[in-house]
Amino acid sequence: MQFSTNKQKVFFKTFGCRTNVFDTQVMMSNLKDFEVTQDEKQADIVVINSCTVTNSADSTARGYINALNRFEKPPRVVFTGCGVWTKGENLFKEDKVDSLFGHSQKEKINELLQNEERFFNAGDLEHIDDTIVEEFIGKSRAFIKVQEGCDFRCSYCIIPYVRGDARSYSEDKILEQVTTLASNGFGEFILTGTNVGSYGKKQHTYLAKLLKKMSMIKGVRRIRLGSVEPIQIDEEFKEIINEPFMAKHLHIALQHTSKEMLKIMNRRNKVLSDLELFEFLKENGYALGTDFIVGHPGESDELWKEAIENLQRFPLTHVHAFTYSKRDGTPSATMKGEVRGDVAKIRYNELTKIIEEKNHQFRKNNTKPLEVLIESYKNGRYIGLDQHFNQIEVESTVDLIGDWIFIEEYKAEVDKNVARFR
Ligand code: SF4
Repeated sequence: MQFSTNKQKVFFKTFGCRTNVFDTQVMMSNLKDFEVTQDEKQADIVVINSCTVTNSADSTARGYINALNRFEKPPRVVFTGCGVWTKGENLFKEDKVDSLFGHSQKEKINELLQNEERFFNAGDLEHIDDTIVEEFIGKSRAFIKVQEGCDFRCSYCIIPYVRGDARSYSEDKILEQVTTLASNGFGEFILTGTNVGSYGKKQHTYLAKLLKKMSMIKGVRRIRLGSVEPIQIDEEFKEIINEPFMAKHLHIALQHTSKEMLKIMNRRNKVLSDLELFEFLKENGYALGTDFIVGHPGESDELWKEAIENLQRFPLTHVHAFTYSKRDGTPSATMKGEVRGDVAKIRYNELTKIIEEKNHQFRKNNTKPLEVLIESYKNGRYIGLDQHFNQIEVESTVDLIGDWIFIEEYKAEVDKNVARFR
């Protein structure tokens, strides 16, 4: 039986990265006097958890606000997330949204939404949350946020200015959170944050130590990391890479493979040492993904050629490629040598094609059984991810949702693996 309440209904709209997905969960956990709805048309209040990574991310949020304001019964719009620090003031002054609050205020959402007056509370960039998230509805994998902010200053990135410098959650807090989620049935954990690899640096602890402690919690079966930087794969980390709890996949942000472009982008990684690291991880059975920005200012034909030649040498299996998109307020936004959109698109296609082929080759050459967590069912097949972060579609007569299965034999199709189970 369903009971209806007189509580106001709140719909959350989340834009951007995993960190924002996590932040929305924190807000939901703190919303005691309201009801969360999955239908924005039913909502009295819509909370927009925004992303401001590029100018076009700002436009997307604006477009969404405009669409809400055109509803027959427009909801009260409350704006939060990274965009508060870049576009917040304008949105507030122009009356585009009712109210705004910054990241550091999200745990106070229950009181904030009860405020009948309009408010703009950006908060600070030093805060670290206290909330333990208990589960992720509808997902078999849980994200665990271990840190916030970034001390790097890559020339194209606005993140440090909207999320602040790097700071970490306490080890106790993280382990408490993992314990809660593991006892609620989650087996796979993905560590997330703005710059995950910087976890613990200011508390004189390190990621490998945290991972070992997490693995000892009952129910924890596999741990993945969000994106790490090449220089963060330190000696301690290398010591644990063959532990059974480590997913055999790492996402290491290179962003480019031209030496000169890395300098222009103010990156801390260097092509030759990156290549050495990737070779080492490949030897240890890892599938390796990266982020890559194509078409950043200064990427001449010559530098692109160098980047592609280097890229061919990297044992990559996955890529999260972006064509560069301007973000006002960053050094890159005013750099000379802009790359035309059509040229960037051609380069993007060239890059992704190379990695798709490398991924196919990796799956064809793999000799190890696949350890798969099944997450969904679509078009008569169960879909999951293996330890290498590759998708597999499985035919089966038994319900496999949420199950861990071992697959010995499979067919490596161009874009995915397929198999039968039982
Ligand atoms: S490492 Fe660079 S790209 Fe990543 S959040 Fe920090 S400044 Fe931005």
